[in-house]
Amino acid sequence: MLKRLLLVVMLCTPLAAWALLKPVRVVAPEWAGLSCVTDTLCTDDVSRTLEAAALYDEALTFVDVALGAIDNKPRVIFCGSDACSESFGLGRRAGMTIGTFGIVINTRGWKPFYVRHELIHHLQNERLGMFVAWTKPEWLVEGMAYALSEDPRQKLSEPFQQYRSEFENWYATVGKERIWSEAGKL
Ligand SMILES: [Zn+2]
Repeated sequence: MLKRLLLVVMLCTPLAAWALLKPVRVVAPEWAGLSCVTDTLCTDDVSRTLEAAALYDEALTFVDVALGAIDNKPRVIFCGSDACSESFGLGRRAGMTIGTFGIVINTRGWKPFYVRHELIHHLQNERLGMFVAWTKPEWLVEGMAYALSEDPRQKLSEPFQQYRSEFENWYATVGKERIWSEAGKL
């Protein structure tokens, strides 16, 4: 429901979307007082730029090997403060991917598996199309991100635990080569 609402607002009223939906700020982080050290890396804590860049590079390579190459590297915003996270409306989430526009990482999301998780969502949006990806089953979208990011948590909170095992069962029959063609049919 929230996804559909976001889609409608983004399509119909970009200005209203800017005002109403904090995640949309990812397209112009400078407006939110962030420093973009490159086209694809922004943060509110430039003292941690190297750490952020290393996390981003590791995640890109990891996702490339696990799932295939990302065509267009997304802008990733690494929030080093709660104020930054709140300005994007992250709430308790460790990260958030907004279509193919960009990714925001929360203060607690500075970990390899969290950054990989969001990059997998970005790749889903590239391969399936971001509007189509919104219509796919949650077990596919979230299960893939939790499973293939190698999230180390043995037990996730529900429904994510269920999504991950459902995805793993499906993936065992599909394999890496057919993952996108089969995902397209779901
Ligand atoms: Zn996710």
